[in-house]
Amino acid sequence: MVRLFAHEDRFLVWQVKQLLDEKGIPCFIKNEYAIGAMGDLSPFDCLPEVWLTDDEWLPKATEFVYRLHEQPSLLQDWFCRQCGEENAGSFELCWRCGREPSHS
Ligand SMILES: [Zn+2]
Repeated sequence: MVRLFAHEDRFLVWQVKQLLDEKGIPCFIKNEYAIGAMGDLSPFDCLPEVWLTDDEWLPKATEFVYRLHEQPSLLQDWFCRQCGEENAGSFELCWRCGREPSHS
């Protein structure tokens, strides 16, 4: 299992969940009701989260989430050194092979 997405806005989290359901990607929501019942916890420790049941879906799911929230970005697109794939600037890892961008 792997965490895909977390946001304080529960609506956004549900939007992502719904999108993944449409695409047939197995996922579930964690901490859905954490806000409002957070007690002593930092809000950042209990944001509603979308988790993937199967890690293999992570690259694809990341791409869908990115498209869902696509907006003008100051981040530069980058090319993966390992597989040559072009990645959106908001990607922390290559969506195809999972490699981190080189900052050199
Ligand atoms: Zn790559």
